[in-house]
Amino acid sequence: MVINEQVDAQHQSLHCPVCGQPLSFRLARGRKSNKPLLMVMCLQDGRHFRGFIGDRDYLAKLLEHLEQGQVPVNGDQH
Ligand SMILES: [Zn+2]
Repeated sequence: MVINEQVDAQHQSLHCPVCGQPLSFRLARGRKSNKPLLMVMCLQDGRHFRGFIGDRDYLAKLLEHLEQGQVPVNGDQH
C-alpha cells in the first residue's frame, strides 16, 4: 500500500531529463481516435521532452487525482 502511494507521487512529479524542470501534464485528445491522451511536455522548452500517454488505466487514475486536488470550474456561482 505504502509503496503504491510512493509510485503515484513519483508519477505526479516527473522531471525533464534535459533541464531538470518539472514536466507539465495536459489532457489532450487523439486527432483520429478522439481518445483521451495525456500530453507530457517540458515547461522550459518543448524540444527537451514531449510525449503522450494513452494508457487508459493510468489516465483514469490520474484523472481521479486531478478531481481530488483541483476544484472544478463552476460557472453557476455568481
Ligand atoms: Zn527541459
